[in-house]
Amino acid sequence: MPTYQYACSTCSNEFEIVQTFAEKSLTECPECKSELRKVFSAVGVVFKGAGFYKNDSNKKAVKKSTPEPVAPKAAATALAPKAD
Ligand SMILES: [Zn+2]
Repeated sequence: MPTYQYACSTCSNEFEIVQTFAEKSLTECPECKSELRKVFSAVGVVFKGAGFYKNDSNKKAVKKSTPEPVAPKAAATALAPKAD
């Protein structure tokens, strides 16, 4: 069975999951329920270089070498403000 790699666009969560072709792709991060993107490692696409995150990386992610517990919350708030 193929193994798919996903990366969360909000909390930087990355994981692999084995799915059959019949299964639907995951779209929701199990950690923060934000949008997931599929990672195709074969072509070297990583979430840090794609989409909106790129614009933000100059300020926030450029020096980020290890996941910080604060960063995901800040990113989540900025991207999807929740008005409770
Ligand atoms: Zn997430």
